Amino acid sequence: MPPTKEERREALKAVYHQAKGCTNCPQLAATRTTVVFGNGNADADLMFVGEAPGANEDRQGLPFVGQAGKLLDTLLGEIGLSRPDVFVANVLKCRPPGNRDPHPAEIEACQEYLLRQVELIEPRVICTLGNFATKLLRGDPTGITRLHGREEVRAIGRRAVRLYPIFHPAAALYTPRMLEVLEADFRRIPELLGRELAPPPAPEPVLEPEPALEQPVQLGLF
Ligand code: URA
Repeated sequence: MPPTKEERREALKAVYHQAKGCTNCPQLAATRTTVVFGNGNADADLMFVGEAPGANEDRQGLPFVGQAGKLLDTLLGEIGLSRPDVFVANVLKCRPPGNRDPHPAEIEACQEYLLRQVELIEPRVICTLGNFATKLLRGDPTGITRLHGREEVRAIGRRAVRLYPIFHPAAALYTPRMLEVLEADFRRIPELLGRELAPPPAPEPVLEPEPALEQPVQLGLF
């Protein structure tokens, strides 16, 4: 029997308590104020995955609470959604000092938390925000400039999820052209949420009648 919504929520809380004391990355554990696990609807159809907490997120313990978060809220509002409708998380749960890029070893050490979040929340669509989340969840180094706006169904754990890479809101804050692209990509989210995840059933094979043998098979004549 698949777990109920309540069982998944309780399991997600257990992962949160485990992550809160995580010391897998000694440097991040030493410099963080809080572990930013992610927040929102534990049964969301739509999940966002960013890069890593910044200074504001580290202080408040919540993802996307700075300028990039305000833009995310605006974009969500434009498609009739708000934070309580979705779940927002990051590739890294701890702030890299000075907002440096996540190190590969940190991404690897932290990825189990994200995979458990995806497994327990059971989203239909995951918007990967920018390069780090896109590369991690696709398992491929292709960058966001090529991939943004191109959805694809992937298996994550035991479930199929529609991945939808889009630009990171922080990158769009200061680049008007990128903001336009992000807005256009965002407008497609409602349609993607309504799409079927399973591949369409294959058409019924047309069974051709066995061709009748025109000549009796003659054996042993030669
Ligand atoms: N940028 C991110 O990638 N994540 C946050 O939580 C905030 C800013």
